[in-house]
Amino acid sequence: MKIICIGRNYPDHAKELKNPVPKKPVFFLKPDCAVINNNKPFFYPDFSNEIHYEVELVLKISKPGKNISENSAHNHYNEIGIGIDFTARDLQAECKAGGLPWEIAKAFEGSAPLGTFLPKDKFSDPGNIPFHLEVNDELVQEGNSKEMIFSFNRLIAYVSRFFPLKTGDLLFTGTPAGVGPVTRNDCLKAYIGNRLLLDFVVK
Ligand code: MG
Repeated sequence: MKIICIGRNYPDHAKELKNPVPKKPVFFLKPDCAVINNNKPFFYPDFSNEIHYEVELVLKISKPGKNISENSAHNHYNEIGIGIDFTARDLQAECKAGGLPWEIAKAFEGSAPLGTFLPKDKFSDPGNIPFHLEVNDELVQEGNSKEMIFSFNRLIAYVSRFFPLKTGDLLFTGTPAGVGPVTRNDCLKAYIGNRLLLDFVVK
């Protein structure tokens, strides 16, 4: 199983990090040990002093494929969930400054808490899914898939040009504006619509 994460897919988030709005999708990978399931806690790692939350809609790939067309991409995922793309922003800044890969900042153990997935057919329009994140019961990020620069189908088509997608792969589809730091004892709650699907603490 692999985890593919899209960067800079919401214009307001690209701007808040002073990144250009991309002309084609930007993506990176996380290993399977990044996943945290069942609302287990996230343990603040000792190599960073600036871990940021990024709440994202996540697609679960249900059908393998390579060079998937945009028109058939909707057949390749059957569940939609929500997750956090935890980012060591201090290390990422060093990577960016040095033109280095992002793995130490993005792909560390526990960097991808995942909520409960919902069947895709529960959604009338995958291009209009509201979601949000609360930290300690305060709203910090709010987004809607309609604001994405690249749609779910476009992302699947693009990524599958470079490697085959397999059943069970996960696609993090990018974060809206409002990213920020977590500290120990914070409680994070992520929602699709008004459904609480992810609820965990930072330790
Ligand atoms: Mg992200």
